[in-house]
Amino acid sequence: MDKQFDKIRVVLVNTSHPGNIGAAARAIKNMSLGRLYLVAPKDFPADRAVWRAANAADILDRAVVVETLDEAIADCGLVVGTSARDRTIPWPLLNPRECGEKVWHEATEHEVALVFGREDRGLTNEELHKCTYHVHIPANPEYSSLNLAAAVQVLTYEVRMAALAEKQGAYPVKTQWDVPPAKVKELELYYEHMEQALVDLGFHDRANPRQTMTRLRRLFNRIRPDSMELSIMRGVLTAIQNAVFKFKTATDQDDIGGSKVD
Ligand code: SAH
Repeated sequence: MDKQFDKIRVVLVNTSHPGNIGAAARAIKNMSLGRLYLVAPKDFPADRAVWRAANAADILDRAVVVETLDEAIADCGLVVGTSARDRTIPWPLLNPRECGEKVWHEATEHEVALVFGREDRGLTNEELHKCTYHVHIPANPEYSSLNLAAAVQVLTYEVRMAALAEKQGAYPVKTQWDVPPAKVKELELYYEHMEQALVDLGFHDRANPRQTMTRLRRLFNRIRPDSMELSIMRGVLTAIQNAVFKFKTATDQDDIGGSKVD
């Protein structure tokens, strides 16, 4: 059971108030989790974080501080982003209970991240689009934004409930997949490759991107390709790029030939 808890990390992005970091550490430890990642915190380490952490200061001592969200989630196979409100493009959504169950189950297979946003602005759309799923705590629609540490408490509580339910044999055995799902880092490289191939193909214009890449990200997020499927797709993209290159070279030579005739 403990091994699964060790595979789950809570990621706090750009937190302003160190008190919230301390309170989140306490919430995490209360629920038997232990790993905290801080993406560019405004004020950390800080005494106020230690005070609010009470006896969970060990979680703060072990917290991993990184500069970007990419670094915090690169090796994860499942990333759940939290949102206090609706966003422009809808994303696959979990409720907190489903989130707890999914996080708990997938932690048998790979690293899992629960990502929380800034106190004033939450997560940016770009950050949310790096997540496999979004989760929303269905609070009072008139006043739906929880304190950051309170949101951490609710979602880590659901993970613990899922863990306890499994202990009581509440879940059926699930399919064992043959290849692990692609990690965030592999997916990011894939999206970069795909964008370049679509530019080469003349399908996509970086100067006028519209929502193309966001929608394609969402498509592949929904499919959740495994590492093998992703490397096949990378091979397909390379083949497309090679064909485009050959076609362009042949057309250029025709042009040169044509001008000679002139
Ligand atoms: N004003 C911000 C809310 C920030 S609250 C906004 O409109 O997005 C700080 C963080 O707490 C959020 O980024 C999210 O991680 C978490 N949070 C707060 N309320 C939540 C809710 N109802 N559901 C899920 N996460 C929530």
